[in-house]
Amino acid sequence: MTSVQPIPPQTAPQSDGRWPGLVQAWNSAGQEVAPGGAAGLILVCEHASNATAAPWGDLGVSPAVLEAHVAWDPGALGLARALGAALAPSCGGVELVHAPLSRLIHDLNRSPDRPGAMPEASEVHAIPGNRGLDAAARQQRVEALYLPFHTTLHARIARQLAMGRRPVMLTIHSFTPIWHGQKRAVEFGVIHDADPDLAQAIVQAAPGCGLETRLNEPYSAADHVTHTLRLQATPYGLANAMLELRNDLIATPQAQADMAAHLAPVLAAAMARRAETEGACRAS
Ligand SMILES: [Zn+2]
Repeated sequence: MTSVQPIPPQTAPQSDGRWPGLVQAWNSAGQEVAPGGAAGLILVCEHASNATAAPWGDLGVSPAVLEAHVAWDPGALGLARALGAALAPSCGGVELVHAPLSRLIHDLNRSPDRPGAMPEASEVHAIPGNRGLDAAARQQRVEALYLPFHTTLHARIARQLAMGRRPVMLTIHSFTPIWHGQKRAVEFGVIHDADPDLAQAIVQAAPGCGLETRLNEPYSAADHVTHTLRLQATPYGLANAMLELRNDLIATPQAQADMAAHLAPVLAAAMARRAETEGACRAS
């Protein structure tokens, strides 16, 4: 049984009722700082939180369901924060944008037209508060959560571009060890969308981290899981990949710190390799 992490503290919405993405930053010394400085890497954690809020309430699901992986990616935010601090020195700073509320209200890694954006059911659990949503209800969630989050993320990218940087984007996720009764062998999944270069470089560098690593497992772009990459990184031609860690491996703050220590050298090596390739392409 995966140990359940404490529910993150509620974060108040803006006065207009909108819930933007939450931003954290680390400078090139690896210290957490106010966002706005240089960042060669932008981390995204769309499933960081299992918090709920008015007017949606608990969507009619039990506390146990809200603590389970259907409501969020357990361990992903802690891992993303630890990676931010660990990778900032080699990336010239890192910014992290993470979700303020549960994916059950609006999955920020799904286009609003996808059934999974506001799922009526997730794996074996019904989500009563999402049943039969009309256009107005769906639009309210897009306005409150999806648009503010992606506008925040877009702004972080645009500011780096304006400063002459081309940040790498990594989205950080976790997946459940058991899916529909089947144990998953993969421990570290690296998923790409249209540009496979960084994902392939990570997989090639991964033997050093001692994890069972697979490309495009346990999901792939065909499962509509690369929405953020497609929306935010691909249009600017930024190197990007989605990282999926099996959540039993990052169930505690110590495990998240240990995992970040294992992954950071792998990711740094892959990003350096990708940067060399990009530089060679531009020079040719
Ligand atoms: Zn996820």
